[in-house]
Amino acid sequence: MHRFRTVAALLIAGASVGAPFADDHITGFMDGAATELRDLESRYDDHIHPDDLCDWMRHMTDRPHHAGSPKAKANAEYIAGLFREWGFDVEIEVFHVLYPTPKARALKQLKPFPFTASLTETIVSSDSAAKALEREALPPFNAYSADGDVTGALVYVNQGLPSDYEVLERNGIDVSGKIVIARYGGSWRGIKPKVAAEHGAIGCLIYNDPLADGFARGDAYPSGAFKHGTAVQRGSVLDMPKRPGDPLTPNYGATKNAERVSVEESGTVMSIPVLPISSVDAEPLLRTLDGPTAPANWRGALPVTYRLGGGGGSIVKLSISFNWDLVPAYNVIARLKGATYPDEWVIRGNHHDAWVIGARDPMSGLVPLMAQAKAFGALAKSGWRPKRTAVFAVWDAEEPGLLGSTEWVEHHRDVLSEKAVAYINTDGNSRGFLSMGGSHGLQTMASEVAYSVLDPQTGVSVGERLRARRLVNGTTDQKKHAKQSKELRLSALGSGSDYSPFLQHLGIASFNIAFGGEGVGGEYHTCFDTFDHYSTYVDPEYEYGVALAQVCGRLTIRLLDADVLPWDFAAASTTYSEYVDSLVEKADALREETDEFNRLLLEGQVKLAADPTKEFFAPKSKSAVPHLNFAPLLNARDRLAELVKDNDLSAGAPLTVDQRHEVNRLLFQSERQLVDGRGLPGRPWFRHQVYAPGFYTGYGVKTMPGVREAIEERRWAEADEQITRTAAALDRFADTVEQVNALLDFGDENNGK
Ligand SMILES: [Zn+2]
Repeated sequence: MHRFRTVAALLIAGASVGAPFADDHITGFMDGAATELRDLESRYDDHIHPDDLCDWMRHMTDRPHHAGSPKAKANAEYIAGLFREWGFDVEIEVFHVLYPTPKARALKQLKPFPFTASLTETIVSSDSAAKALEREALPPFNAYSADGDVTGALVYVNQGLPSDYEVLERNGIDVSGKIVIARYGGSWRGIKPKVAAEHGAIGCLIYNDPLADGFARGDAYPSGAFKHGTAVQRGSVLDMPKRPGDPLTPNYGATKNAERVSVEESGTVMSIPVLPISSVDAEPLLRTLDGPTAPANWRGALPVTYRLGGGGGSIVKLSISFNWDLVPAYNVIARLKGATYPDEWVIRGNHHDAWVIGARDPMSGLVPLMAQAKAFGALAKSGWRPKRTAVFAVWDAEEPGLLGSTEWVEHHRDVLSEKAVAYINTDGNSRGFLSMGGSHGLQTMASEVAYSVLDPQTGVSVGERLRARRLVNGTTDQKKHAKQSKELRLSALGSGSDYSPFLQHLGIASFNIAFGGEGVGGEYHTCFDTFDHYSTYVDPEYEYGVALAQVCGRLTIRLLDADVLPWDFAAASTTYSEYVDSLVEKADALREETDEFNRLLLEGQVKLAADPTKEFFAPKSKSAVPHLNFAPLLNARDRLAELVKDNDLSAGAPLTVDQRHEVNRLLFQSERQLVDGRGLPGRPWFRHQVYAPGFYTGYGVKTMPGVREAIEERRWAEADEQITRTAAALDRFADTVEQVNALLDFGDENNGK
């Protein structure tokens, strides 16, 4: 008699025999079905051809294709045409989104000597896209900067993080009424102007220091992969940690006739002017800064003495204005209808728009998605009908702020909440090691997939290669986990790509997948990210493109065809437990630190440790950290841990078709239980209680963000309230586990829990 095994059961029942990753078992598939699946996957692999990837890439990267450009539309139509050829039901769904493009940009130094920044990139004439770049590339800018014409003293703020402003404060430097210059790195770029504005700055420049990805690292393109001195990283400064998507249509789709709020009402457009510049333009500005020498870890690789400035010796004038236009965003949506459960959707997405040519970002992630779709089409023609419906989504306007995907998710929220099983995202690809972030309920199936795909360079599986890396070069935690188990931990998802609306707005279990770590270069968001650059320095044979198509293809196929969806409540429970523990530890550590600081202050030690020449530095005592009531969260954690332990199927009876349907619905809806409709404090759009981008990290994740950020920001009443909310989310999740247990134990009187 076959039994349906969820991983929760498998991990417990099989813990002693190491059943996960056993060759004969694939989570979610009964024994016979697993054999068929392996056969299907090997036929799938036969349809993935590196030449296809290269040809599509070449075709779509011959001209700039930013949102609203003719080539973005042409690419959407080209992709839609191919999908149709491959047998999909295809539509191009258009949204109308705010996409400001630069009208005028000027940056001048007025004191101590006049200097005008060039604000242009020197295009490499030997690049096959050179002519198109000269003709059609938008100049470097930060999307959703404010218009502005400001003049002020310049201050160097390192990476522009909150902690950098503490250093400035200790040096007696105030940025209010001044213009800051920050280097890229340390956070998502939008944090830099946001924090600068919070401190009263009137303008913000962001530059690329060659220390990060320029001459300090290697030769510049075209002789090497690294950043040209004139290259500028474009990018969005929309307040995405607050709410991504079209600023003018918060929480609903930006359809043609949708009601729109004003730019001022949007709450996500930057309040001060921001401009990205090259290291060549930054150097003269940095050279003239006065004031204290910057701390050692603030210094870059330019041949200047890095100083903090602010004394008024260096005055700059920044003037920028934008065309605040609505542009059409073309999402390509292609469906292959499921045979058994057509109303359960597995969605696979990547964006198609770029800042300029975007060979690496996003095309190197898109062409494996297209290879996957072509292979699905071919398999369907030879008789394969997936059980569930496959939806391929190719997004427009990701770069300015996840606009295409967010508008689609907001517009279709009800049907997606009901039907979406999971969302699998990619956004560009490189070479080296597999990187997998995602919902921890799907961790075990992701591991199994990783061990089933061969690494093109080493001949071992991409999973084995990743595990070896963690054993050798991992953090202490990674080493510990890699020693304990073959199961590969998924990283938690913050933001920075199109999975955000699925995961964090609606609670749809998500993945974000790429290869990386060995494809270093400086082309990101510059006009140097071209077909020639990618084909020379990143993945010339498209072998990692093929590997990405194999990993994402398997994830999709297994979710489409599993008898019982491959959820793993035990892995989720273990991970959530660790998050809870880390919150308790964080609060304790903060209490100890605070007490110690106040004690040293009382003894006069803090004053002695400060620079005695700086009389302005008058440290104040910190308010004591109260004991928070973690009980609700600890109780919810324990209840969940107990329930996944009880998920013992040895006494289970086979399921009827209806029961199986119900179990599957409960499994994929389990992620929805982690959503709280009220959202996170100050940012209601973000509703997932376990994963969110940090309010002050931008892309970087904060797990159990409501509680964690309240502790970090020392808002104690809010911390207590958020503990209750997060505990309630874990309890709802545990309720689902309980319901699944009840269904799987159907017919057994000993398991009447
Ligand atoms: Zn991208």
